[in-house]
Amino acid sequence: MITLHNVTKSYGKFKVLSNCTTSIAKGEVVVVCGPSGSGKSTLIKTVNGLEPIDSGEIIVSGIRVSDPGTNLPMLRSKVGMVFQHFELFPHLTIIQNLVLAQVKVLKRSKSVAEKTGMALLDRVGLVAHAAKFPGQLSGGQQQRVAIARALAMDPIAMLFDEPTSALDPEMINEVLDVMVELAREGMTMMVVTHEMGFARKVANRVIFMDRGEIVEDAEKEDFFGTPRSERAQHFLSKIL
Ligand code: ADP
Ligand code: MG
Repeated sequence: MITLHNVTKSYGKFKVLSNCTTSIAKGEVVVVCGPSGSGKSTLIKTVNGLEPIDSGEIIVSGIRVSDPGTNLPMLRSKVGMVFQHFELFPHLTIIQNLVLAQVKVLKRSKSVAEKTGMALLDRVGLVAHAAKFPGQLSGGQQQRVAIARALAMDPIAMLFDEPTSALDPEMINEVLDVMVELAREGMTMMVVTHEMGFARKVANRVIFMDRGEIVEDAEKEDFFGTPRSERAQHFLSKIL
């Protein structure tokens, strides 16, 4: 579903990604972890073309992401992304947030888009909030709306960049629960997170990054059991 081959990227002289190679099969859940500044956000943003790369290749469902001819808005609708800060449109109601891209990008009629939107709000437990504005919801609720909004595009894969890092502790689980359910339904997911409980529960693999490199790319059991590199051992000893 997703293949990265020797992906390299620099900001000036600073190499933010160095020969990153991995692949994610359909239905797989891969957790990406590593110290702050190691390139995790940059890596997952390359997958839907939000960050251009200098060299290497990224193929998502047969589409070469860095080909000049690639329709990036369409690709981004098919590879949903959820950020640390929910990034809902503040001046639109919750249901309008869910409808907008369905109508603009997928050309759905407003009534079909609303129906899809309400079904997804139901799924994340927020139907009662459809007519509210994002500012009237808690952080955890806004993040669930952001997930529902991405799902409204019928994505083939979902990318998450520290989706619970900006949340108060009591709201983390309501967001993780939605993600766990999504994973169990077979969604292909790449998740940057420090929530190792989530990783243990649903990840198939764990990628550990340090200084722009993929240092480990291991089955979950192997990663938590016996991380091969000293850097991963050190990282785990600090966060577990
Ligand atoms: P992580 O998500 O693991 O914390 P990032 O991918 O956000 O790491 O960033 C990796 C490194 O690249 C950091 O050192 C960061 O300062 C640097 N960086 C990120 N974006 C830019 C940018 N637009 N220009 C210059 N440096 C950047
Ligand atoms: Mg980051």
